[in-house]
Amino acid sequence: MTIFLSIAGLIYTIFLAIFFFKKKKIKSFELKIYKSIVILTLICLISELFIPITLLTSSKFFQDFMMKFYLVTILFWTAIFFVYVFSLSHKELFSNHLKNKRNTIMISIYIVLNIIIATLLMLLPIDFFKDGMIAYSYGDSVNFLFFISSIYLFFMIILVFLDIKNIKRKGYVPVIVLIILLIISAIVQNINPSLLIINFVYSFVTFVMYNTIENPDIKMLNEVTILKDQAEKANNAKSEFLSSMSHEIRTPLNAIVGFSQDLKEKIEDGELKEEVEDIVMASESLLEIVNGILDISKIEANKLEIVNTEYNFKKIFNELIVLTKARLGEKSLDFRINYDETIPPCLYGDYARLKQIILNLLTNAVKYTYEGYIDFTVNSIKKDNICRLIISVEDSGIGIKKENIDKLFSKFERFDLEKNITIEDTGLGLAITKKLVELMNGKIVAQSVYGKGSKFTVAIDQVIVFKELLDEEPKQVTNNDFSNYKVLVVDDNLINLKVATKLLEGYKIKIDTCESGMSCLDKINNKENYDLILMDDMMPKLSGVETLKKLKEIEDFNIPVIALTANAISGMKEKYLSDGFNDYLAKPINKLELQRVLEEFLTK
Ligand code: ADP
Repeated sequence: MTIFLSIAGLIYTIFLAIFFFKKKKIKSFELKIYKSIVILTLICLISELFIPITLLTSSKFFQDFMMKFYLVTILFWTAIFFVYVFSLSHKELFSNHLKNKRNTIMISIYIVLNIIIATLLMLLPIDFFKDGMIAYSYGDSVNFLFFISSIYLFFMIILVFLDIKNIKRKGYVPVIVLIILLIISAIVQNINPSLLIINFVYSFVTFVMYNTIENPDIKMLNEVTILKDQAEKANNAKSEFLSSMSHEIRTPLNAIVGFSQDLKEKIEDGELKEEVEDIVMASESLLEIVNGILDISKIEANKLEIVNTEYNFKKIFNELIVLTKARLGEKSLDFRINYDETIPPCLYGDYARLKQIILNLLTNAVKYTYEGYIDFTVNSIKKDNICRLIISVEDSGIGIKKENIDKLFSKFERFDLEKNITIEDTGLGLAITKKLVELMNGKIVAQSVYGKGSKFTVAIDQVIVFKELLDEEPKQVTNNDFSNYKVLVVDDNLINLKVATKLLEGYKIKIDTCESGMSCLDKINNKENYDLILMDDMMPKLSGVETLKKLKEIEDFNIPVIALTANAISGMKEKYLSDGFNDYLAKPINKLELQRVLEEFLTK
């Protein structure tokens, strides 16, 4: 009967081997082991089938040799399977297997040990019993193999127990099957020594293993790699498209924001003023939308970097209050503020992103609350050198339905459109907020009662810098009077020049303009004196970066140069600073930013 089991085992192992070796495979340690196991299973099965043939001859040496050879193949099969079990529970050792010296020594010892055992198996005496159809071998050689196999089995069980938490891994299925079947076959063989089922066990385990090892199809893998490359290319094209779109949209927007703000200040109260105010609001929200789309695409392309610096959180908190009050406008809401004064004065983190996160929440609270209050609270927990900021924004606004809370942080989700019909927005704010919080390893939670109000809580860890802030906060300039200073604005776009001039006029500053890098160089070479240069980058012939390079070659040139660009994609500020610019202003020029630059570079 056992011979039939062996023939059956041989047939399906041959098929399995054909399938396995025909398929192109990646090179992995697991597959190398499996290859050896398939080959050894075939040798085991063939040599077992040879034994009855040797019994037909009268050569005792030939019979003994064949029997012992068979025992040796079983030994090697078990030894290699043991390596497989060991590699499952010690994955880290095999990730760069054979590469390190210690592994090489261990493996060499293991091979030598098994060769010694195999030699002993070949040397020890063997006998066989034969009575009609029943035949089996016995003797010291067989007993020795039983002993060695039991040791291997024992250690396999130990390894499985040591790695019991990973027992559900697919790789362990053949191990468990082998352990169970080996125990069963040992019992069966004890009862009836002629029932040789060990080879059937091994070929069955080889079959089970075929279905559990990681065997990625190399053809599929190639296709996946090609598709991945294509997707990456498409994504890069998308980023480039967005970057140039942002430039194209921001340039005209620059004019709209700049001129309408200027008009708003010039026009006396009346219907016209209201209309201009609407233009200002609409252009600002258009700018916010462009920024939002840029942010989300940067996040999705993994291009949004967290830039950590030292900062004063109290300053950010105060700025947020000013901004929120401005957004409240005529809404008569009770804006409550609570600040934990134990927050260390100097923290380390990405304050610009932190501010963006909180501002998004505060802006939403203002947008979706019509009466009652907005509560802005900051608490902290300090442990070692970490300060956990716990920021909550609570409102008594329209609230969010229970079923919508889960969808709140998804892109382009907006709710209650019939109620919010007047609020123009995209539903990107909270999606960006959540991604930013995650990028900063923080947590955000939303709670809300529909019709009563909402509460958003953010927890973000920041590193405490033990020293106090080095720089005193710049003193607020009250009179906006820079009449003693002269600024040169360089831009090839006439409308942009007009906008910049309008913005600077408010500071009573002396302004000069020119339309190309070349004429800027001429002015400096002619010893015209300026206190600051604002320079557009994207200009034909000589770009801003190239002009700056040439300016720096001029002897005694030490005028600060600020890059002006509509290209506001991530990393731009860092790029311009490394190009040698003193600072960077994104178009449309933000009034507060412009004021900061003027104060920093003119009053120093
Ligand atoms: P939007 O730009 O539309 O405000 P957000 O992603 O910031 O987009 O918010 C998504 C949606 O979640 C909003 O359209 C609004 O329906 C709801 N929402 C956000 N914050 C609040 C809040 N404080 N109160 C009520 N609803 C809110």
